[in-house]
Amino acid sequence: MTNFKVGIIGAGPSGLAMLRAFESEQKKGNPIPEIKCYEKQDNWGGMWNYTWRTGVGKYGEPLHGSMYKYLWSNGPKECLEFSDYSFTEHFGQSISSYPPREVLFDYIQGRIKKSKARDFIKFNTVARWVDYLYDKKQFRVIFDDLVNNETFEEYFDYLVVGTGHFSTPNLPYFKGIENFPGAVMHAHDFRGADQFIDKNILLIGSSYSAEDIAVQCYKHGAKSITISYRSNPIDTKWPKEIKEKPLVTHFENNTAYFKDGTTEDYDAVIFCTGYQHKLPFLPDELRLKTKNCLYPDQLYKGVIFNNNERLIYLGMQDQYYTFNMFDAQAWFARDYMLGRINLPELKLRTDDINLWKAEELATETGEDHVDFQTDYIKDILSYTDYPFLNLDKVAEMFKSWLKDKEENILNYRDKIYTSVVDGTEANIHHTPWMKEMDDSLERYLDETPVDEKELSKVNYY
Ligand code: FAD
Ligand code: NAP
Ligand code: MG
Repeated sequence: MTNFKVGIIGAGPSGLAMLRAFESEQKKGNPIPEIKCYEKQDNWGGMWNYTWRTGVGKYGEPLHGSMYKYLWSNGPKECLEFSDYSFTEHFGQSISSYPPREVLFDYIQGRIKKSKARDFIKFNTVARWVDYLYDKKQFRVIFDDLVNNETFEEYFDYLVVGTGHFSTPNLPYFKGIENFPGAVMHAHDFRGADQFIDKNILLIGSSYSAEDIAVQCYKHGAKSITISYRSNPIDTKWPKEIKEKPLVTHFENNTAYFKDGTTEDYDAVIFCTGYQHKLPFLPDELRLKTKNCLYPDQLYKGVIFNNNERLIYLGMQDQYYTFNMFDAQAWFARDYMLGRINLPELKLRTDDINLWKAEELATETGEDHVDFQTDYIKDILSYTDYPFLNLDKVAEMFKSWLKDKEENILNYRDKIYTSVVDGTEANIHHTPWMKEMDDSLERYLDETPVDEKELSKVNYY
């Protein structure tokens, strides 16, 4: 049955994966349902659609983007490669394993530009509210057309939510912070390290944002960086300008007090304290409520909302895998909507969710997390015809990446990996990452040969 209507909210990598999944079905000559996608920004790409703005967008909506200037991939591109569209197919040449943001944005666009996907997307349109009409078995969604300042509604048989979850800051309070005289911001509003040259900065939090913002600020010339952790330090070999301390207890003017009794003065504080799953357009009974984890409660196969089987969520888990996981989820969701995957009854679905959750609870190390997410993707892929992806090899690359980072947080981005999609071995980049201050696509694809001497000369510590 294809005479139904699907609404997709968000045109980031997840929403675009959903469009691509239907497109690949259409290409086989099969009928597809009516599809509409709504995106509040003026372009696709989600997080990868960089903005200089902070706070609110052009039309006063909470700003989505959390990316910054000089952001490079923090995992090997070979771990996120689409199985049906390789990097080599896109760029026509081998590139390095850790490209900058603009290069990955270009890659995401490359696949989707080949289709008519843009025609399905209404940009500058924000989902405001959703109701489920039990009698009609339909979602009524209220949207705001931001350009024309007009409200309208649409009805859908299935609703796909791909709005991301690294956009709304989690911003805890520390006593005295209101009197801190320097810059105070959340990583969501960080737009580049330039303003922190020669400054002493304090980062609160000890995950990916803290790790990368620390290294970015060091690379671009901050005087010192302190990372303050709540549970665990990142615990890697830092250059002397970066150190870790237990959690801040409070502030007095520009002085931070730490749990270990030490104090230190700072010019700026950046909260790297993560994000909230914020879905303000959904009513209580449809809203996913979870912290950042690998298997959110309420989602059967990580995708289908357990209390309303016509509601689909993409990309809501914490992410080792990204683009190819969103593909796997979208292919699964597509086949489910097309009636090819039978949904077990509620009790069995709940049991299945609980099994995965128990397994996640038993994970301890980064390697365990990688194995967990690999098993999850294998599971959902087994239901679909997504082109073969050698996930065991990808998992190996993730584990090697974890080691690379542990060995040298400053040069892991100079390492290279081999594509499981088409066997291309990555190129050693023409400039060591620590020396590369220009992150543009143009400069990245520059044919300047690798300066091996430069590469070996870099004194990282
Ligand atoms: P998003 O990319 O967040 O896209 C969601 C889209 O939904 C946005 O376009 C948004 O405007 C739209 N939207 C939201 N609410 C509404 C609404 N109410 N109505 C209409 N539209 C709406 N991943 C990697 O693989 N490698 C990296 O190096 C990497 N770096 C990252 C760096 C940062 C700072 C952050 C925050 C994330 C990074 N990620 C990285 C992870 C990133 O989340 C994923 O790569 C990917 O962007 C997630 O795709 P998504 O479509 O699920 O969400
Ligand atoms: P995250 O992984 O969810 O980490 C949140 C951090 O905040 C944790 O260390 C957590 O500590 C800490 N925290 C939360 N509440 C706190 C509190 N009240 N007090 C002190 N600490 C608190 O979020 P993230 O680091 O922002 O990463 C989000 C995403 O962005 C990831 O997918 C990441 O890969 C991506 N990213 C990528 C790059 C890149 O270079 N490409 C750069 C930045 C971010 P606990 O351990 O105690 O919970
Ligand atoms: Mg974490």
